[in-house]
Amino acid sequence: MKNISQVIKILKIKNKEFYKPVVTQESLDRTPFRVLISCLLSLRTKDDVTANASKRLFSVAQNPEHIVRLDTKKIEQLIYPVGFYRTKAKRIKEICKVLINTHNSKVPESMEELLKLKGVGKKTAAITLVYGFGKANYIPVDVHVHVLSNRLGWVKTKNADETMQKLMDVVPKRYWYDLNDLFVTYGQNICLTRSPLCSKCPINKYCKKINVTNSR
Ligand code: SF4
Repeated sequence: MKNISQVIKILKIKNKEFYKPVVTQESLDRTPFRVLISCLLSLRTKDDVTANASKRLFSVAQNPEHIVRLDTKKIEQLIYPVGFYRTKAKRIKEICKVLINTHNSKVPESMEELLKLKGVGKKTAAITLVYGFGKANYIPVDVHVHVLSNRLGWVKTKNADETMQKLMDVVPKRYWYDLNDLFVTYGQNICLTRSPLCSKCPINKYCKKINVTNSR
């Protein structure tokens, strides 16, 4: 028994106490382009750093044409100190060129086409589709979603891509849109990757704590 509805219901209430992950924040202008670029910036980067870098970049460049006109060095300066900022600056510019030349300056609305963009993996593609286009056809899976869904015992998987597939098999579709946002926020605040705060966790009784060896 996975108690999926109860867990989702409790997390929706509990998460109101916390700051939301930047790529899913309601307050942002969540166009597919902004979601795609913010997600690329967020890889291996803290949320507040991503938020500030996104703001700086979008304050001078709001679409692919604006970005390709910027010097790569300028993009680096705008997004610094996100992780791998030099590689990301180059990637973002390359992606914008492809969007202009192949997709009429639009972000493609399919997993297949998004995955053809260099540097875009399944998680980024799924986030763009779900939070940029508002399509609940996927469950984006990052480290928090992967870890939490395995700890709960909802899935038994080795990597994020496998988790996305298995979660889509077990979680009812009505929860797909919210799941990433809920689990990322919860993973950043309570179900911490290294040492989860199980003693403060309101879903404790529903959790199998698979592979949890060190909790507080
Ligand atoms: S009981 Fe612990 S491992 Fe399970 S969801 Fe809560 S914090 Fe995470």
